[in-house]
Amino acid sequence: MKQELTSFPALVIRESDYGENDKLLTLLTAEKGRMTVLFKGGKSLKNKNSASSQLLCYSEFTVKERNGFYTLSEAALIQQFFELRRSLDRFALSQYIADVCGEVSVENENGEETLSLALNTLYMLCREDTDTDFIKAVFELRCMALNGFCPDLTACPLCGKQESDIFYLDVMNGSLRCGDCFGSDEDIELRKSEGQALMIIPLSRSVLAAMRYVIGSPSKRIFSFKLEEDELEPFCRVCERYLTNHLERGFKTLDFYKNIKKLDI
Ligand SMILES: [Zn+2]
Repeated sequence: MKQELTSFPALVIRESDYGENDKLLTLLTAEKGRMTVLFKGGKSLKNKNSASSQLLCYSEFTVKERNGFYTLSEAALIQQFFELRRSLDRFALSQYIADVCGEVSVENENGEETLSLALNTLYMLCREDTDTDFIKAVFELRCMALNGFCPDLTACPLCGKQESDIFYLDVMNGSLRCGDCFGSDEDIELRKSEGQALMIIPLSRSVLAAMRYVIGSPSKRIFSFKLEEDELEPFCRVCERYLTNHLERGFKTLDFYKNIKKLDI
């Protein structure tokens, strides 16, 4: 049977050993979402494609397809994000980003926006003037919004109010309540129909504005805003909880990142 060769740029989001000599690569691509590719002889560092097929390499991949299975033919490096290796917390966070991308992306579905988000986030991480917790939070919320879990942050659905000193986010239903409506009879009725609220998080005016910005701004601008120091922590907390609750799982790479941050090394 004839083997088709195709080429496309992709980010390596997972690599694992396969058999004695080979590796399996999980790639994030624009056109076909997540793709698993067999890298024959990939465990040998002498292999000509090894340097361009490592975790978080962004490369132009040429693969052979046969009966829906892909085998690596060639990988030409486009970007390696070397700077990530200079600090442990940035490196740890990049592993978590790869993990989350692997979790949300689907085979044979368009992955263009998730790929673009992953690359933008890695570029940001390479810049040492940006706070890693901030980058992580923006990535988490935007990633959820792009992958079917976008919260409706426009207004309180009960009174239509768009601005208030305090709002409450019903995490699992992705809906807001203003401070006046929260806990009212109407609120309780509506929540019965939406499903049980398992997690309610209060949002200050600035945190809500930041979340709206992350969801609504063009992809190249998502990191272009600032939060006051005391608003950063609640913003990061709500974004992480939003992601882990919707994906219904934790990540070892997230625990690792948090441990590194605690140690402050
Ligand atoms: Zn209201």
